[in-house]
Amino acid sequence: MAKANLMDYEKAISLFEVVIGLEVHVELNTKTKMFCGCRNEFGEEPNTNVCPVCIGLPGSLPTVNKKAVESSISIGLALGCQIAPTGRFARKNYFYPDLAKNFQTSQYDEPIAFAGALDVEVPSGKVFTVQIERAHMEEDAGKLTHVGGATGRIQGAEYSLVDYNRAGVPLVEIVTKPVFGAGAEAPELAAAYVRSIREIVRALGVSDARMERGNVRCDANVSLRPIGQEKLGTRTETKNVNSLRSIERAVRYEIQRQAQILADGGTIIQETRHWHEDKGSTSSGRPKSDADDYRYFPEPDLVPVMPSNELIESLRAKLPENPADKRKRLAGEWGFAEMEFRDVVNAGLLDFIEEAVAAGAKPQAARKWYSGEIARIANSEDKDVSELNITPAQVAELANLVDAGKINDRIARTVLAEVLAGKGSPEEIVKAQGLEVVSDDGALIAAIDEALAKQPDVLEKIREGKLQAAGAVIGAVMQAMKGQADAARVRELVLERANQS
Ligand SMILES: [Zn+2]
Repeated sequence: MAKANLMDYEKAISLFEVVIGLEVHVELNTKTKMFCGCRNEFGEEPNTNVCPVCIGLPGSLPTVNKKAVESSISIGLALGCQIAPTGRFARKNYFYPDLAKNFQTSQYDEPIAFAGALDVEVPSGKVFTVQIERAHMEEDAGKLTHVGGATGRIQGAEYSLVDYNRAGVPLVEIVTKPVFGAGAEAPELAAAYVRSIREIVRALGVSDARMERGNVRCDANVSLRPIGQEKLGTRTETKNVNSLRSIERAVRYEIQRQAQILADGGTIIQETRHWHEDKGSTSSGRPKSDADDYRYFPEPDLVPVMPSNELIESLRAKLPENPADKRKRLAGEWGFAEMEFRDVVNAGLLDFIEEAVAAGAKPQAARKWYSGEIARIANSEDKDVSELNITPAQVAELANLVDAGKINDRIARTVLAEVLAGKGSPEEIVKAQGLEVVSDDGALIAAIDEALAKQPDVLEKIREGKLQAAGAVIGAVMQAMKGQADAARVRELVLERANQS
């Protein structure tokens, strides 16, 4: 595959208006599947959570999962949508081995929620209102694993395995209207939008919202039109981009790729595209017309969903604080500088810090650990902070040990490494390994005297005002204490000593 020519990003933005559209699939964390009683559980033995309904055996009949409907309504309400008084399921017919029924039960012209809007803040601090076209319920497909090829895709594979545990898992698909006017910030807006959706469904408690497990997946539509042109350009749809960073990169890449083709007088092919994280590029998938013929028709085996006003209002009353309002509140409560707060939000660390604070950490201390050492380790291991083996409560414990003067920063970093290695909680590790700083002045003075005896001229120099001479003694004492001393206290004691004698 030849590498596409990419136009310089700034140039592309100066020539073309970017229009994006986002489709986000959210997997609900209901106990059971959408239309049967099979367990909805990630990571189990393949094909163990299956039954005649979700593998589409003839004669089996689906029933709707009440909790999934309620969760879908909650999502709709949180996105400012109207809730349809009646909504029907429809069959989306297609043949592919990941769905044994030969059709996906979805919603077509009667989605459960429609006409919403979401305010999304991008890293620059600008807020865009993204119009939500609809949110509809459907079922997930099974998982295909293509074995033997170099790429893990079906092309070149020797054989494919199918796991139907995921077939029938409840999904809500949230579709935006075309988003105009983000300009150079379109890639950031796409990522910030998905982050907002993730925050909302997490706050609602309706999804585990773990992107690395595919709980939240995004298809990003991108099209360009020459500045000033009314007619929309042809769009491409980059499928299943599963991290916030990838969404931003994929949209940016498509802008640069399409801009170069258009500038060269070429045409954009309407198609799905795949994002390749390793190469940082997209490649052609399958052509897609606007009228893909899925022969949608109303699902005859399910009655329409007719949520009562009472139900809708009771769900509305239970909506959690809107994430944007919550951010404003926390910014006030924590007293971070504006940049500090924005960095925390953009790094996706807000939830962790909030939990650490709830567990007793001081906000600044929690921020320091998460955006410093913990982010650094996650970065170096190419992981999300959520994948690291440390809980916000443990971070709070670590921060409080430092605050209380029981360990110093250097020891705390060692303790952090041990926590990540699964050796226990910070307090357990400090106790088991005897890492608590020596706060007994007697022991420190003894070590200072010993160091001074070896460097008799130091006291004289300090008295002459050469305070930096104390460094050598402090270093020797810290070494004797194996680093488990408060260097500032040692310095105080050395200077006291010089003034006494
Ligand atoms: Zn089933």
